[in-house]
Amino acid sequence: MSTTKEIVDGLLSSYAETTGTKFTLAGDPKDTDDFKYFQLSEAPKFTDKHRSFMKKYMTPELYEKLKDVKTAKGYTLSNAVQTGCLLPHLGVGATAGDEESWEVFKDLYYPIIQEWHGYDANTQKHPTDLDPSKLVFSEDQKAKFNQYVASTRIRAARNIAGFSLPCGATVEERAGVEGVLKQAFAGLDGALKGTYYELGNLSEEQTNFLLEKGYLFQIPTARNLLMGAGAARSWPDNRGIFHNENQTALCWCNEEDHCRIISMDMGGDIPAVFSTFCALSEALKASATANGTQLMWNETLGFLGTCPSNLGTGLRASVMVKLECFNKILEDESSPAEDKELLEQVCAAFDLQPRGSAGEHSPAKGAKFDVSNKQRLGFSEVQLVQKMIDGVSKVIELEEMLAGGASAADVRAKVNEMKAAPAAGSGAAAVKALAA
Ligand code: ADP
Ligand code: MG
Repeated sequence: MSTTKEIVDGLLSSYAETTGTKFTLAGDPKDTDDFKYFQLSEAPKFTDKHRSFMKKYMTPELYEKLKDVKTAKGYTLSNAVQTGCLLPHLGVGATAGDEESWEVFKDLYYPIIQEWHGYDANTQKHPTDLDPSKLVFSEDQKAKFNQYVASTRIRAARNIAGFSLPCGATVEERAGVEGVLKQAFAGLDGALKGTYYELGNLSEEQTNFLLEKGYLFQIPTARNLLMGAGAARSWPDNRGIFHNENQTALCWCNEEDHCRIISMDMGGDIPAVFSTFCALSEALKASATANGTQLMWNETLGFLGTCPSNLGTGLRASVMVKLECFNKILEDESSPAEDKELLEQVCAAFDLQPRGSAGEHSPAKGAKFDVSNKQRLGFSEVQLVQKMIDGVSKVIELEEMLAGGASAADVRAKVNEMKAAPAAGSGAAAVKALAA
């Protein structure tokens, strides 16, 4: 297996060769033996393979405007775009190195945010709502979820004010974040009481167990945002995972964000998983606050973190849902290309995103798909989980149509009908009424 240094050196020389962009490796204070940040000497150039929103908005004019700008902690424009330059397949391609980055480099981030979330950060305000009692989950929905859903997971990002984010952090800051989080984890009690495991001290057997269960983050590879952004420096130091005794509440430390909070359980009891998620979010906040810590948050961007795609609630609520008929169409070699996109199209219509059973771009083993909300910003936590519940209910209804003999064209027509007339008394309508 290649070392981080070999991977990063390879990515840097391949970027230079394929684009001809001039940069130096003159020495960034954050450099380590295994990772060098580049300093662009001109506006970055891109190949046809580069597909990120960063590429779209990182114009020579914007480069001229921001090239000498630095946050107080030393994060630069070159730092912010490095991962999107080195890794052409990334969809966003820009990162923030600290809280101040979001203000200083907003001319780059805001258009990306607009395109990713449909949210205008210049005019809109982001709502927060962590009250699980507001979710509407009807008896019918519950019955369908029990039948089709194997497991549920809700996660969000939380970062600690005052420390650089992982791609801008020094060794001391990374250790500082882990110290603050360990103290906060130690303050969790009752059903949330648990243990923190340092990544560097896990046995191979423990690591494999946690990975197989989907509890642990992936170890950075040559294709990860983390690798290109410098967030995999000094791996695995100061990284780790906390979980409570029954493994329904988990926290990751110093992966892409300072902290990812996660609630998971078997089955499709969304309100229960969301309740645990809210309890974990509130308890962690209380514990951190008691220790004098504040979370990164503002009313425009909500919870702040590393990636523009994960702002606001930073929340992804997913179900592993068995969709045999959709999967059959997907796997059938004779399906027209248009029909291979059917599940993608259906999900997009309800602001959902389908992934395979082992994360993005993986196949759906046993016809199980990870279906989650697509947006994170501009909607509250309750609204996003409700959108997932109502959207997945419709996907299940369409799966049942297919099982009853309907064609892909019938499904498309039905989707248009569903979009035109949201069911009266649906969860989304009820939540809207509550919010009004
Ligand atoms: P994230 O958005 O948290 O980065 P990933 O797509 O990288 O999510 O998935 C992280 C892990 O969580 C993967 O192993 C994935 O299979 C697992 N996972 C996601 N949703 C569920 C779910 N509803 N039930 C069980 N495991 C899940
Ligand atoms: Mg991830």
